[in-house]
Amino acid sequence: MSHEGIRFVDKERAARETEEPRPLSRIAVTPEKVRVLLSEGKGLEIDWQDGHRSAWTFAWLRNACPCATCNEERGKEGRKPGQPRTKAAAVLPMYTPPPKPASAHAVGRYAIQFNWLDGHTAGIYSWEYLRRFCQCPECTFNDEETAGAPN
Ligand SMILES: [Zn+2]
Ligand SMILES: [Zn+2]
Repeated sequence: MSHEGIRFVDKERAARETEEPRPLSRIAVTPEKVRVLLSEGKGLEIDWQDGHRSAWTFAWLRNACPCATCNEERGKEGRKPGQPRTKAAAVLPMYTPPPKPASAHAVGRYAIQFNWLDGHTAGIYSWEYLRRFCQCPECTFNDEETAGAPN
């Protein structure tokens, strides 16, 4: 009843632990269909040319704004893209409605831009950025495992 000799060779894990972001093929960052669910207030959905499907809530997108100002703020607060401010860090304890854009439009062939109801419009969300932060269970599971590693 010995389990000696059983070894797990986890090549995928080893690959994930390297610093390099995983390379994405062109079809993985080229949308087939883009749906902005404005009236439903739900968020953004993209079907990619490689068959993958991604969805993000507007709250996530607002907290993942890739503009320089938001990037810097997140860096200072140690937040990852899409991660909301903690309750304690919020300046005003008043109710704030969930973020929603008034409109959205394509930026060239590579990105989408939102006109948020709070007046912020600086963020240009490239397809690659969005794909790298795909929120589907499969993609977020891999992220969490990497982030949760003890060393
Ligand atoms: Zn921003
Ligand atoms: Zn995914």
